[in-house]
Formats: sequence, C-alpha cells, structure tokens
Amino acid sequence: MHRIDGLILDMDGVLWRGPRVMPGLATFFQAIRRLRAGFILATNNSTRTVGQYVDKLAGLGVQVRPEQVLTSAYASADHLLGMTERGAKVYAVGEEGLDAALESRGFRLAADGAQFVIAGLDRAFTYRKMATAATLIRKGARFIGTNPDLTLPTPSGPLPGAGAVLAAISAACGIEPTIVGKPEPLMFQQALAWLGTDPERTAVVGDRLETDILGGKNAGVRTILVLSGVTSKELLAESPIRPDWVFDDIGALSTALER
Ligand SMILES: [Mg+2]
Repeated sequence: MHRIDGLILDMDGVLWRGPRVMPGLATFFQAIRRLRAGFILATNNSTRTVGQYVDKLAGLGVQVRPEQVLTSAYASADHLLGMTERGAKVYAVGEEGLDAALESRGFRLAADGAQFVIAGLDRAFTYRKMATAATLIRKGARFIGTNPDLTLPTPSGPLPGAGAVLAAISAACGIEPTIVGKPEPLMFQQALAWLGTDPERTAVVGDRLETDILGGKNAGVRTILVLSGVTSKELLAESPIRPDWVFDDIGALSTALER
C-alpha cells in the first residue's frame, strides 16, 4: 500500500452512505494529503454537477478542486472531445449534471442535426425523448451512455437508473451505446490521465464489486473494497471478483495508508 501514488475514490458507500457521513472522513483526506498521493473522486452519477460535489464536500470540511471530481457526465463530455471538435451538436437525454458537463466542454445542446446522442439517468424521460434519440441514432448519430446502472437505490427501494433509459433507446433503434462509466474502463482511464500516475501505483476505492472493483480491474489499476456500502463480507465471499485489499471503511483504510 505504501507504493500507491494515486487514488480514484467512489463516493456513495465510501465517503458517505445516503445521508450518513462516514466517521473519519476529514482524517481520511488528511492521510491522503500527508502521503502526497493524488486523488480523483469518480462517480457514475451523471445528474449532479461538479460544483455540487465540491460544495457538498466543503460542507463536510473537505476542500477539493473541481478538477478532482469526475462524474460520468464529464467523462462522457471529455470522451466526446476525443471524437469531435468543440461546438458539435449533441442531443442529451439526462439531467442538469449532463447538460452542464457538455456545455462546459463547448458542445451545443440540440436535437436537430446532432451527430451524437448522450444518454444517462433522466427522471423526466419521455416517449418524445426516446423517439428523438432513437431516430438520430438510426440516422447515424453515435450513441454514448454515461453509465450502465439499471437501478438507482432510493430509501423506498430501487428505481430505474441510467441503464434503463439506455435500454429503452437501444430497444427502439437496435443499437447499443458505448458506455463511459464503470465498470467500463473509459472514466477510470480519464481519471488516470488526470492523476498522471502509473496504473500499478494507482488504486480504485469503492464499495461495489461489479462496478468499482471490476471497473478498476478493467482499467488495469489496483483495487480496494470497503465494506461500508453495498457489499457485505458474505457477498464478497461468494463473488468471483477479488479486490486487492479489503477494509471495513475509510477509517481502517486511513490507518493502513499511514502505516
Ligand atoms: Mg458506491
């Protein structure tokens, strides 16, 4: 663990779980800073803006810069920058976080003549949006999905996630999207590029085996599972996905990092 130069941190289930903030949050970031390790906060959630995450963390006593937060929406916008020039027309099916990400990279949000369709979680998804997206894709627009999560955990149980929106559009046009978020490697590869660290000396910290840990493995980085989120010891024992390290929570991880 002393060879880790960079951390890619999941947030929900790691730094907090729903409304409950993990004990030792500020201490964890102090430990990372003492080690002079770089970090990127990376989330599949495409609905919030980077500024909203910066503000949330500041409210918890942790100062992070906007360039230390990568959502699947910003990762999708950056992926698009590698395919086309700024100013290209993009049809976005999503919420505030996706529109903000695309506009911050200079893309124009428009359906008419769009060469790209980017879709993620959209809690105002309609038949009209599905039809517009499917028609553009049928005419040759590239189809990109922010993240594949089929469901979204809520206090009242799982609700449809980004993956359900993507599945509806895919069903209507017969074409599957390129996925940017975890467990696909694109977002983690961008995080690596931002950190500038060697994959062997970079670790993903997450609470979910099928996204964080599998995604880390797909991107060729080391993997750290914390048991403070959705994965229990029992689920871990049954899974074929094996993280490099396992800790109860960020408190235990802080201790290991400082050892
Ligand atoms: Mg999580």
